[in-house]
Amino acid sequence: MPDQEHQVVASGPAPTPREVANVRDTDPDAPLPRSPDERSADGPFAAIRLATILMVDDDNVMLLAVEAFLDAVGYRKFVTTTDPTETLALVDKHRPDVLLLDLVMPGMSGFDVMAQVRARDEYRFLPIIVLSGETDPAARLRALEMGATDFLMKPVDPSELQLRVRNTLAFKAYQDRLADYMPVTGLRNRRRFEMDLRQMLGETSDSTASCALLNIDIDRFKHVNDTLGYRVGDALLDAIARRIERLAHDVEAGLIAAAGETDVRVNIAHISGNGFGLLVACLRDAGNAERVVRTVLKGFAAPFEVDGHEVFVTASIGISLHPLDAKDADDLLTHAEMAMYQAKRKGRGHHEFYSQEFNARAAERGSLEADLRRAIERSELEVYYQPKLCIASGRVIGAEALVRWHHPRLGMVSPVRFIPIAEESGLIVDIGRWVLYEAGRQLKKWQKQGLGLSVSVNVSAAQFTRSAILRDVRQLLSAAGIDPAALVLEVTESLLMSNIDEAVALLKAVRALGVRISVDDFGTGYSSLGYLRWLPLDELKIDRSFVMGLPGEKDSIAIVNAVIAMAHALNLEVVAEGVETAEQLDALKGMRCDEFQGYLCSPPVPAAKFAQLLDAQTAQRLDAATPPA
Ligand code: C2E
Ligand code: CA
Ligand code: CA
Repeated sequence: MPDQEHQVVASGPAPTPREVANVRDTDPDAPLPRSPDERSADGPFAAIRLATILMVDDDNVMLLAVEAFLDAVGYRKFVTTTDPTETLALVDKHRPDVLLLDLVMPGMSGFDVMAQVRARDEYRFLPIIVLSGETDPAARLRALEMGATDFLMKPVDPSELQLRVRNTLAFKAYQDRLADYMPVTGLRNRRRFEMDLRQMLGETSDSTASCALLNIDIDRFKHVNDTLGYRVGDALLDAIARRIERLAHDVEAGLIAAAGETDVRVNIAHISGNGFGLLVACLRDAGNAERVVRTVLKGFAAPFEVDGHEVFVTASIGISLHPLDAKDADDLLTHAEMAMYQAKRKGRGHHEFYSQEFNARAAERGSLEADLRRAIERSELEVYYQPKLCIASGRVIGAEALVRWHHPRLGMVSPVRFIPIAEESGLIVDIGRWVLYEAGRQLKKWQKQGLGLSVSVNVSAAQFTRSAILRDVRQLLSAAGIDPAALVLEVTESLLMSNIDEAVALLKAVRALGVRISVDDFGTGYSSLGYLRWLPLDELKIDRSFVMGLPGEKDSIAIVNAVIAMAHALNLEVVAEGVETAEQLDALKGMRCDEFQGYLCSPPVPAAKFAQLLDAQTAQRLDAATPPA
């Protein structure tokens, strides 16, 4: 007898033909009921009657008898075969909850079937009840040894069969619940979601339909836990899960009614502490994914009632599409997650579709970050120095230390590319310290040669904490024995403004060591000049973007003029950055700017080349200095 499947619709509320998977009361393989009111008069075992039972026996009469016995107590989903060689394929196809297996069959024994099934990782824990007329205790022992979960003697006693099947299924339901469901929400977990996804994509691989996967991450959930406690946090997650269940219904109904997506299926899961997955399968038009996202985002507008609190919650959503963005389940999940992180960057309550670009960008970032971790110990970093000149005298009076990375494969990588990676990964702390010491060493050399130069070092926000920067600077000063006044730390406006009180205290402490402070890229951040008077500063660097507009652009002239006047009123030296032409320098001179840096004199160069530059300076006047190629 070939594979037979008889599904009789169970008594009670008939499932609608368009079930949303995962909704417990219509879910064909739901775990044990979660709350007492979900239990029918049948008691706690009602749900397991929805189990799929696979029976393999060469004796057709036996199959019919067993089915009748089990049908009598409410089981409805049976798959039967008399051909043992079909077993594995049937398990794959129907994912039974229990396998009833005869031992002695022509062609293939029950032992061999068991070995075949157990060899597959995903079926290691599939309950197998062996039915056999074999009275030999050794055979029973062998069956149990090979992984049978239970053993039944033929001829089968109906009550014993019913009880053994019930107990086996109850235990499996419990196990499934532990392995596949999130305790807090009762929704499928990530592992199970992945399995379902894999299966679903396998089924739809040859069709023209698409799937949209939404990674829904609750914003600032940690904040809820921290402020209202874990109990409320858990209750909130549960409320969110129920809302997402409803949204899944809405999404499905909306797609069918308004977009004509008659085949669409929606599946949800609880895939991380505060993250949910929503899969829309069998979409005819992938463009409808946008509609799904809107429904979900709108669904978060109303507050959640939790433990007497009204809690407003937003979610960030990342979306990836199959087959457009990913061919398999793993990629689909990862890409939706990447898109979600991208959405989070935009703030709360945003969404973002996956794009190939992130992939390339993230991959590049990832590999650059890994390489950067080893850059210091492999001596791939070098400090270049750009001369800083006094405009009035035309003489080099200092140098800005700018880090360079000689990547073994990519060649020279610009700091514009790797400094942000270093900042986000925290590597900037080590790199910045290394640059500081390296620049300090160089400064010491110059001081020994009697050169009255200053050295400026760039400092990032992550380095600029009380413990880190103060300790490093103190250590450098005492170890190298350099004149602190010759050391300048360049900090940016945004660093200062992000926490102004702490910044002021820290700047004071650094300045108390005799070190000077410069504000870098001035004009690009908070353009309010007023706050400067409250900060203990020595120097201000006008950003290159303003210098670029000189001498022609009225706005640039006005801004540069105002900045110089105000800085002088506050007793700050003014440095112009990125001076490239003689005309720009002339204009700055006219505006009484004090110092400049820029390609007009020289780009940043290695220390040895910087020495040559100084030699040339003593030999000839600045005007003769050659601009770079
Ligand atoms: P920054 O501190 O504003 O440095 C000035 C940048 O302008 C340097 O780029 C320099 O090479 C470039 N520059 C100088 N003169 C001219 C010019 O006339 N024309 C043009 N077009 N550009 C000019 P660089 O060396 O690529 O550094 C870029 C940024 O990377 C720096 O901007 C700084 O923010 C960061 N950076 C570099 N080294 C370090 C470091 O050791 N630590 C930290 N935290 N940041 C660093
Ligand atoms: Ca700088
Ligand atoms: Ca700058």
